[in-house]
Formats: sequence, structure tokens, C-alpha cells
Amino acid sequence: MGLYPPNGGEIYYKGERIDNLSPKEMLPYRSKMQMVFQDPYASLNPRKTIKQTLEEPLRYHNQSLSNAEVVERIEEVMLQVGSDPKWISRMPHEFSGGQRQRISIARALVVAPEFIVADEPISALDVSIQAQILNLLMDAQEQRNLTYLFVAHDLSVVEHISTNVAVMYLGTVCELAETSLLFGEPKHPYTRALLSAIPRLDGQKVDRVRLTGEVPTPIHLPTGCVFHGRCPYVNKRCIEEIPELMQHIDGRKIACHAVEEDRI
Ligand code: SF4
Repeated sequence: MGLYPPNGGEIYYKGERIDNLSPKEMLPYRSKMQMVFQDPYASLNPRKTIKQTLEEPLRYHNQSLSNAEVVERIEEVMLQVGSDPKWISRMPHEFSGGQRQRISIARALVVAPEFIVADEPISALDVSIQAQILNLLMDAQEQRNLTYLFVAHDLSVVEHISTNVAVMYLGTVCELAETSLLFGEPKHPYTRALLSAIPRLDGQKVDRVRLTGEVPTPIHLPTGCVFHGRCPYVNKRCIEEIPELMQHIDGRKIACHAVEEDRI
């Protein structure tokens, strides 16, 4: 999203490299990419009405729209997120967390994006509201043909909403796979431990993988594989050499020496 300049790597959007573009060159991409933030209390400007909040990005990216067209677009998007268009003159403090998150989603949708980064969009909400917001996001995805990059810690939500899942540990992608493949047969030692910790309601017994040790500080990352201090399959190479994300025989990508060496 360009909120922070990257300090390494490259970013591609539909095959075009975008991390080295100037702000002016980035402009055509801006309305295509939107973001829904985690905290619906902090992500809406408390001094702006809902109309002002939704109007600003819309006018910025569509300068030829008339006042009537702007209001029409705002009302349409309010309806789509299940909010009453009559509320647009209200301030953010007049809404609950779930209603604010609907408005945050409306702000993202109002410029008709293709791609939305949803950064833990339901984790700050009551459990009863989480399902509503999740369904709203899924409906919007279907109606508008959207792509989400959905960041979450709740693995049941991840399994429910995703087509592909990237499991990360300390900022490093460990495993990237189709959802059914990843949840059905996790390969990376961290993915295995993570999935084995999901609470189950069906009473089915799962071999719980209990990790030992502490999560290292991200400021001083360990040498080699970032997971080596906690991994039951660690060897000398793991401590010295960073594993690369490599294509596995079944199509997924894994960054693990043990998988590459056929030890697991
Ligand atoms: S590279 Fe080594 S330490 Fe890292 S996950 Fe694989 S086996 Fe474990």
C-alpha cells in the first residue's frame, strides 16, 4: 500500500513493479488498491462526518463527478455495507465498533477498487459481529470481483475466507499453499504446530505439536532459519543458512531445509 517505504524486496501489482514508482506514477494504482484497518475506532477521522469520510477519496479519484453523482455513489455503498444512508451526516463516535467497520469497508469500496488489504478487519470486534463483517466482505468480494489480502490470526476465519494461505513467522513466509492443501496436510514445521493448536469442537483427537522456547525479538532475528530455535527438525544447516521459499512437488511453496532434504 506504500504506507511505509520498503527496506528490502520488490512489490509487483498484476506483474508491474510498483515499489520504485514516484507518488505521481503511483496515482493510477491508488484507487485500485484500498485498505481496511484493524481498529475501527482509530481508522475513522473523529472530526469528519461519514459523508465527508466517504466523499474525500471519491472526489479525489473521480474529479468529474457531480454532487448528485457523489451522493448517489455514497448512498449505494452505504446500502451495500448494510448501513442506513440517512446516517451519513453523523460523526464516527455515534456508531458502534461493528457499524464503524462497515463504514471503513464502505470507504474502501466507494472508489471501486480491485484489491483490498484487510488487516485483521474483524479481530477488534465482538465475536457476534465478526461473522456479520466477514459475510459482508465475502458478499462484496463476489459482487465486485475483489481480491483480498486478508491478514488474520484466527485460523478458522483464514480457512473460511481464503483461496490461498501464506503462513508467516517473524515476518518470513514459511509456507504458501492452496487453503485445502495447507489445512489438509501442512508441511512446514511451524505450520504443523500452528494448525495442531486449533481448538476442535468435534472431539477428534489431534496430535498436538508443542513448541518449546520463546519467540525471538524481530529486532534481532536469529541466523539462518528464523524458526530454528523452536524447531524439532533443526540441524546445523538451519542455524547457518536461510531457507529459500521453494516450489514443492505438489505445487505449494515451502521455506524449510528439512522438507528440501526429505527429512520430513
Ligand atoms: S529450515 Fe530447519 S529450523 Fe527451519 S523450519 Fe525447516 S527444519 Fe526447522
